[in-house]
Amino acid sequence: MIARRRFLIAAGFLPLLQPAYADNRRVLIVGGGWGGLAAASQLRQLAPELEVTLVDRQPAFMSFALSNRWLVEPGAAPWARHDYAALARKHGYRFVQAEVLGVDIAQRNVATMNGALPYDWLVLAPGIRENWSAWQVDDPAAVAELRRRHSGAMQSAADLPALRQRLANFKGGDLLMTIPPAPYRCPPAPYERALFLAWWLKTQKIPGKLVIADPNPMMPAFRNILLDRYKDQVTYLDHATVRSVDLARKSVSTDIDDIRFDEALLCPPQQAADVLWQAGLIRPEEGGKPSGWAAQGATDFRSAADGRVFVIGDAAGLVSPQFGYFPKTGQVASRMGQSVARQIAAQATGKAQAPLLPESVCHVTSSVEPLENVRIDTSYRDRGDGFLVQTVKQTQNPNPSGEDAAWAAAMYGEFL
Ligand SMILES: Cc1cc2nc3c(=O)[nH]c(=O)nc-3n(C[C@H](O)[C@H](O)[C@H](O)COP(=O)(O)OP(=O)(O)OC[C@H]3O[C@@H](n4cnc5c(N)ncnc54)[C@H](O)[C@@H]3O)c2cc1C
Repeated sequence: MIARRRFLIAAGFLPLLQPAYADNRRVLIVGGGWGGLAAASQLRQLAPELEVTLVDRQPAFMSFALSNRWLVEPGAAPWARHDYAALARKHGYRFVQAEVLGVDIAQRNVATMNGALPYDWLVLAPGIRENWSAWQVDDPAAVAELRRRHSGAMQSAADLPALRQRLANFKGGDLLMTIPPAPYRCPPAPYERALFLAWWLKTQKIPGKLVIADPNPMMPAFRNILLDRYKDQVTYLDHATVRSVDLARKSVSTDIDDIRFDEALLCPPQQAADVLWQAGLIRPEEGGKPSGWAAQGATDFRSAADGRVFVIGDAAGLVSPQFGYFPKTGQVASRMGQSVARQIAAQATGKAQAPLLPESVCHVTSSVEPLENVRIDTSYRDRGDGFLVQTVKQTQNPNPSGEDAAWAAAMYGEFL
């Protein structure tokens, strides 16, 4: 029998199983954003004997970082498009382009449009989805039409070129921008975008008004500039939670009033991406309200449903009674990816790896002319009893000289 098996292996008819890894070789990563790509490249470095497969519906990685200025300024996109197939060849993982349809946690199997993918460890890094139902839009065709005509492009960076084109076509009138209720990805991004839009309306002398409907308190760094320097360009509506949208009338309704628009950047509430809902990994409630985010450990990002399943990046849910969520930024997602790679590598190889907590650095433009930036540093430490302490530091930078681009290049250098 053994001789027959050796013959079949030598002839290539049976896979050659390495006993130590027989059941522990396959790492499947769903989502090739900041989190998934960081996990994939780090795993290849720490445990090259593991088989790492990345699956994404898109053929290439694109980033939101530095996109707000580019939306209203001529010039090349600030990001390069990185094909997953080329990244997979460079780092030594496998890439499968497919829509993920569901996860069978008991069977350790992921269903995709192109067939099933079995795993020994699963890293779920699928980002967010937009909750149009919260605005009374449930019909998928109506959602698709709203996204086509008025997407605020916060879910996928692949939507940014179409938004840029819509802005280029805008010749005047009311330009509505809705801000999602917190938590949403990249907290300063909508305010920075509003700043560039206001600056663009003013400097290009476009006879338009930027109407900002904001359900959150405005970030202080932007308040004076948006409301004073651009007071002729900006109407800011605070406590403005959108309840419904009417595409035919081009209006949204809030608790207070209806807002008509000529063009809009509609950004509905955000939630963890569909695959987390399909997998049954959403926390039922957070702080007495229904939760839209995943249930996972605060420091190890493991799912309570199965310790071999990790949830990382913007899809992650509540981590602290004090500060709530990790900021939904690319750097946090990438640090979480590196952390789970260390944990999987340690489990697979038996070699200890130092733990890694998230951190985030954001360089945000707070004034266009003269150019000024704010740097927001967020870091964490474990208090020792399982509770995390968050430190946020904001530093004004009155003379920026490319720190944001240098930060982005350093980050991409880690996983692209
Ligand atoms: C305007 C804007 C500006 C920003 N600027 C910054 C910045 O300067 N710095 C910063 O750190 N962060 C920034 N961010 C935030 C940053 O983009 C996100 O935090 C980051 O993308 C989160 O990474 P992720 O891996 O969780 O998800 P994503 O990057 O969204 O990746 C998720 C991936 O999963 C794939 N996917 C999802 N579901 C499926 C499925 N069912 N089947 C197959 N594939 C699937 C998607 O195609 C996608 O590629 C910005 C965000 C916005 C909107």
